[in-house]
Amino acid sequence: MKNFLMGNELIALAAYNAGVRSAYAYPGTPSSEILEYFSKISDEVYAQWSINEKIALELAGAEAISGKYVLCSMKQVGLNVAADPFFSIAYTGVKGALVIASADDPGPYSSQTEQDSRMYAMSAKLPVFDPINPEDAYFLTKKAVDLSHKYEIPVMIRPVMRVCHSRQSIDVDIEKNNLIISNSFEKDTARWAATPKFRKQLHSILNQKLKDISNKYYKEFKINKKSDFAVVGSGYSFAMAMDIVAEDGLNIDLYKLDLPFPLSDELIKSLLEEYEKILVIEETQPVIEMQFARRDKVFGRLNDFITNMGELTYQYLQSKLYQFLGKQNEIEEFDVNVKSAKPRLCPGCGHRPAFYAIKKVAKNRGIFPGDIGCYTLGVNLEAVDTCICMGASVTFAEGLKRANNDKVVIATIGDSTFFHTGVPALINAVANDSKIVLAILDNETTAMTGFQPVPHKHKKISIERVVKGCGVDFCKTIDPYDFDGSIRLLNEAIEYSEKNSTPAVVIFKHPCITKIKYKGKKKVVITDKCKNCKICYEKFECPAIFEDKLANAAKIDELLCVNCGVCMSVCPFDAIAYVDEVDDEV
Ligand code: SF4
Ligand code: SF4
Repeated sequence: MKNFLMGNELIALAAYNAGVRSAYAYPGTPSSEILEYFSKISDEVYAQWSINEKIALELAGAEAISGKYVLCSMKQVGLNVAADPFFSIAYTGVKGALVIASADDPGPYSSQTEQDSRMYAMSAKLPVFDPINPEDAYFLTKKAVDLSHKYEIPVMIRPVMRVCHSRQSIDVDIEKNNLIISNSFEKDTARWAATPKFRKQLHSILNQKLKDISNKYYKEFKINKKSDFAVVGSGYSFAMAMDIVAEDGLNIDLYKLDLPFPLSDELIKSLLEEYEKILVIEETQPVIEMQFARRDKVFGRLNDFITNMGELTYQYLQSKLYQFLGKQNEIEEFDVNVKSAKPRLCPGCGHRPAFYAIKKVAKNRGIFPGDIGCYTLGVNLEAVDTCICMGASVTFAEGLKRANNDKVVIATIGDSTFFHTGVPALINAVANDSKIVLAILDNETTAMTGFQPVPHKHKKISIERVVKGCGVDFCKTIDPYDFDGSIRLLNEAIEYSEKNSTPAVVIFKHPCITKIKYKGKKKVVITDKCKNCKICYEKFECPAIFEDKLANAAKIDELLCVNCGVCMSVCPFDAIAYVDEVDDEV
């Protein structure tokens, strides 16, 4: 039966159809739908949103060394967090099967970097598949599971965002397989608890496995020469190159390399022997290209023929293919930079008044380290000064305070991110007497990536108790809609922290507005006291307020406004007010 499925869904389905019954992940664009879909395939699967990628991969690894078939998914920068077990499990290998789906973000559209997960695979010496479209992702995931089991080695699949989020009609469905998976842990300390001496042996075994994999996988590879020019590559950008060559009738031979690492020596040798010029198309780093040692014939990123940043667009690749053939005058070269609209926090979002209060209390003496989540948008409200990686707001706060003792340092972190990597950083700040204020923005969900659950969702864990367990004595919670109360509490926290040489924590607790679909009963309007000072729509930046140029005043868009009333606290002229009751509470 034909199904119209997203790349991420097809990865999950393929893993299930190949025998995977357990999956672990931490949410992140563009990989989140893999675990979501996997969890719904059947009652017999186990799917866990772990608190970070390191934990997800370690849990997956533990099951896989017990003989189970397991999937672990994450976004590219998540692999940085999981890098430690990733490298180590490469040596020990697995017993059942372990597929790591690391989704990349050329562009980048929602990441801090454009790093290429395939480089990690190469560095850890693990095979990596790079699908060109959702259908390819399905078949390559199945191959990844098989390869992992056959060679007892973790295998990576690396889809880029366009593959993860595209949909394709494909004739696949849930398969019941009769695979007999033995799942019991067999003790073997020389392998699973290897000392450095045994690690060297494991490394040698891994090297041999890689050689076998590259030779066997590319055993059937054949040169089919019709031109002196060849394009080789993998991933979504290669799919576009294939389309351009077909549509424009270009005289180029194409070689799709499903497994960009490891490539076989024989494949590289025969391509170099047969072709005058070889263009490598891949995103975002030269993983394939680096394996072609000769530089005189090979074109790509290493000789600056292909840009070293940004997503490769259709138009850009078209211009490069023409240039490669010496026909550059026939087509214009395109700029790879795409312009996008400025993102803002939603109307009624509790983060907005929290940030506004933080900025107000610290005035010109504040430094504001921020973190990863939709609340990074606090940068628009001038209440986020740094954003490095998950959990870094707290460590950066400690370091910034040490280097700038005369400043007030207020860090912000979301609830999910706090559990992800914020907790060790807070313990470090307490142990080192850091005079910082940490604002935990608790909206009870992992909002930016699609509302995945947070650890404290079922009240088994409380942020307050965790904070106190980290050694923090000052930990108070407030609803950020109480703007004046927030100002008072932040001032109290600053004073406590400075006086006692220790972190103080304020938890701003308000459920995500898009999740609860809140609409306040009292309607909020802008009155004729408005002086059009622009504070509510430019500084406070509520998307429901805009400038009415004809009236020379601010105006509220009733469709967007949720009547939260917070803007009333920020207007210096008392020009925003409730008017009457409205009926509709959604
Ligand atoms: S903050 Fe008040 S005075 Fe200023 S533009 Fe908004 S409503 Fe008008
Ligand atoms: S009440 Fe004010 S702050 Fe709240 S959504 Fe409406 S315009 Fe925005």
